[in-house]
Amino acid sequence: MRTYHTPLDLVRERSPERPVALVRPGAVAVAARWFQENFKGDVFYAVKANPSPWVIKTLAEAGVTSFDVASVPEIELVAEHAPGSRMAFMHPVKSRRAISAAYFDHGVRTFSFDTHEELAKIIDATGQAKDLNLIVRLAAPAQNGAMYSLSGKFGVEPDQAPGLMLAARRATQDLMGVSFHVGSQCMRPTAFQAAMASASRSLVRAGVFADVIDVGGGFPSVYPGMIPPDLRDYADSIHRGFAEMMVHETTELWCEPGRALVAESSSVLAKVELRKGDALYLNDGSYGTLFDATHSKWPFPVKLVRDAEASTELKPFKFYGPTCDSIDQMPGPFWLPADIDEGDYIEIGMMGAYGVAMATRFNGYGDTETAVVDDAPMASMYGLARRSIPTPRVESETVVKLSRARRSKRRRK
Ligand SMILES: *Cc1c(COP(=O)(O)O)cnc(C)c1O
Repeated sequence: MRTYHTPLDLVRERSPERPVALVRPGAVAVAARWFQENFKGDVFYAVKANPSPWVIKTLAEAGVTSFDVASVPEIELVAEHAPGSRMAFMHPVKSRRAISAAYFDHGVRTFSFDTHEELAKIIDATGQAKDLNLIVRLAAPAQNGAMYSLSGKFGVEPDQAPGLMLAARRATQDLMGVSFHVGSQCMRPTAFQAAMASASRSLVRAGVFADVIDVGGGFPSVYPGMIPPDLRDYADSIHRGFAEMMVHETTELWCEPGRALVAESSSVLAKVELRKGDALYLNDGSYGTLFDATHSKWPFPVKLVRDAEASTELKPFKFYGPTCDSIDQMPGPFWLPADIDEGDYIEIGMMGAYGVAMATRFNGYGDTETAVVDDAPMASMYGLARRSIPTPRVESETVVKLSRARRSKRRRK
């Protein structure tokens, strides 16, 4: 991958025709180190947030050598780019063939499930293996401050949990554990402690000790209008929750961050193909990397990347993606210089998590390039932002205006 100092250098040099994923491996390494230094347990990277080979390699080099995988292709990806690392198959519903391939071909020993049926499947498909680490996925309480609930589909409810914990305890001579996911982009650190207290109650009712307490993902990143508390508060909540649990001395604490390890590491450089009033038609959209900007209406931070001087006046724009589907639009509002026009490039920041990972080939679009840049991310949970950003004023005004716009909207309601 070519390295450019800034996105503008890339635009100057070759006016890219396709969207470009601008990646900052250093930002992933910094996030990885933060988790290793501040989380008192094992850190598994949730591969689905960004399965790019450079992410897997960077994490492994930075010392994160455990991975939360959900499919055989994810397992193969990790095996290729971080050989020898430990994997946990944390999808609560797997095919028998996937379980067998994970166990026999890739040495995966850790599996999660939320039903007796899936537990039976795991035991059967591993040839009655006795060396499994069996992790009971618990339902996380709803309404706990997460911007994305992940409790709608998976997790055993508290009344059923003790029975499943007992069954798991009996089924393995190795580790038995519990896991949950408080929901992605969790804005409330105490959600972790609350989920741990609930897990503890189920364990006590079951009368079993857990060898693993896996607090899942949900660690936030920073987006306009969504400024989360310090990550340290999350670690504190988890450590407090762990101290309050009935566990034995050797019980392991695990976490599975996805978003927080990668969100700020990438942006996307998109090109304006047409301007129609306040609508900008881009070469990237909801079938590409901008899924969340469409379906969750997330206002990602944006910045004009242009050599010539731009208007200092900012205006709110909406984006249209390149496909013919009318769902392919992003309401924003995205604040950009008033004179933005066809041929201009826009850097869309904070796209490292669930951005590049979401792209499809629908309608002949979705093909992206990747280039390394060594400027700072647009925003950062780790103090990285705004060191060498060429037009920081535009960017910070964007953030301020957005939060102002949101506040006044709330007031109107
Ligand atoms: C998606 C997922 C994660 C990562 O969640 P983030 O919110 O990105 O941190 C972790 N664990 C499991 C089981 C997941 O499905």
